[in-house]
Amino acid sequence: TRTAAPALQVEGLRVAFGALVALDDVSWQVAPGEILGIIGPNGAGKSTCYNAATHLVRREGRVTLLGEDVTDVPAHRLAARGLRRAFQQNAFFGDLTVLENMAAVLQDERGASLGRAVFRPFATRRDAAETRRAAAKALERMGVPARYHHAYPGETPYGVQRMLSIALANGSGAKILMLDEPAAGLGGADMAELVTLLQSLRAEGMALVVIEHHMDLIMSVTDRIVVLDQGRMIASGPPEEVRRDPAVLEAYLGR
Ligand code: ADP
Ligand code: MG
Repeated sequence: TRTAAPALQVEGLRVAFGALVALDDVSWQVAPGEILGIIGPNGAGKSTCYNAATHLVRREGRVTLLGEDVTDVPAHRLAARGLRRAFQQNAFFGDLTVLENMAAVLQDERGASLGRAVFRPFATRRDAAETRRAAAKALERMGVPARYHHAYPGETPYGVQRMLSIALANGSGAKILMLDEPAAGLGGADMAELVTLLQSLRAEGMALVVIEHHMDLIMSVTDRIVVLDQGRMIASGPPEEVRRDPAVLEAYLGR
């Protein structure tokens, strides 16, 4: 998969917040069927890197999505082009069931792809039933078992909520999925499910970018890792190389 054209490529990203340079000359790429890990100490610029790639902050540099220059494409258009992001906080509507949450996302995507001009206020009952079927399928694929579909998100175990938030970010199918600390707060069994999910998405050809503090997870699941420290890339390469890199050991253990 290393020879495939990149799904997402960032070049020379730079972000400054006033006098603070949060990201400085950061470049990486991720191919379809590949998992890229981004690691680094707190405040290293990992989340800013996501914000820069998805155009949520003002930045310098270049971003290429599926071979197209999207440097000037606004954030809200990138999702429709297959670049999706799950945030650190679980995000869903608490007063909709798990299934209704998923259906709402699919409905939104459909509305966006049809465009406002052909928006039909009178969705038929058959449309609604179809959307619910698609929603159930999408949830199962993303590791949210059917027994939770009719519960409210807040009533489900924490691990299920995490899978749900990833499923909602993915929608009907991201080309590139960016996850910010997906393992945060998960126990061993949930972690194993998360690993299984990431591996199956990779096997389907999705490109994944994962920010994670959990070293065992990042070392076992990624194909390549980029290490940030104080906004700069201090190392990149396969996990077995990165974990032995003196600069990486220094950044994590030296202070
Ligand atoms: P990480 O995700 O690696 O912990 P962040 O990307 O969140 O790090 O932050 C990188 C640096 O940029 C930190 O010093 C942080 O305080 C700063 N920063 C992040 N977002 C903003 C912002 N919106 N305004 C000002 N400073 C910010
Ligand atoms: Mg962060």
